[in-house]
Amino acid sequence: MNAINPKIFLQECKFVLGVASLKQIPKGDIPEFVFWGRSNVGKSSLINKLVNRKKLVRVSNTPGRTRELNYFTILEQLYLVDLPGYGYAKVSQQQKMQWEDLLIGYFQTSTNIKRVFLLIDAKVGFKTIDQEVMAFLNTCGLSYQIVFTKADKIKQESMAKLIAETKDIIAKNGACFPEFIVSSTKSKIGIAEIQQVIIGLLSSKVSVVTLAKLDNS
Ligand code: GDP
Repeated sequence: MNAINPKIFLQECKFVLGVASLKQIPKGDIPEFVFWGRSNVGKSSLINKLVNRKKLVRVSNTPGRTRELNYFTILEQLYLVDLPGYGYAKVSQQQKMQWEDLLIGYFQTSTNIKRVFLLIDAKVGFKTIDQEVMAFLNTCGLSYQIVFTKADKIKQESMAKLIAETKDIIAKNGACFPEFIVSSTKSKIGIAEIQQVIIGLLSSKVSVVTLAKLDNS
């Protein structure tokens, strides 16, 4: 089944659970789409936009607050997994190590991750920590894809420079998906593109019943 049906994103997206330790990760085979990036990259805003909700995921000006892997679902056909942002300085060493253990365990053991969307603030560009995260993801055998956020904040020349740099970076990171997405929740670009990537990866998984239900909605 190859049909792209963006209507699934009009269905209600619900918070399922916050995972603080590996044993809490949901069992089963529901496909997972993971959102990760530096604190304040615009992850909450992006997830809210994807599911047409204003406050499903808290948009906060205090970075580093999300301490768990937060699972959201639409019709129990997919999980959107909101990971704690990285690179926030005001976090204790112990807490940082706990998160790292959880994240490493999650990435290395999960068999349901269909794509990791690695968010990069277009205005800030790639930081050393982003490149370290990419190097780590390369070792996990996962498909990850760069999504630039806040594209409304930069001028065209800077975007062109960033795109050239991105091509080089992608070429050096074997597991990185070759196409990247440029997004902005303010100017609403890139959102439909991310939805389509998810739907494309889901197509073989969504049951006929669900698609029929969506077609009638
Ligand atoms: P998170 O910490 O990664 O979840 O980031 P948030 O979604 O909380 O966003 C951090 C800040 O960036 C907030 O002040 C948002 O209003 C702002 N922001 C998020 N997305 C965009 C965007 O597309 N454009 C602009 N200009 N600001 C954004």
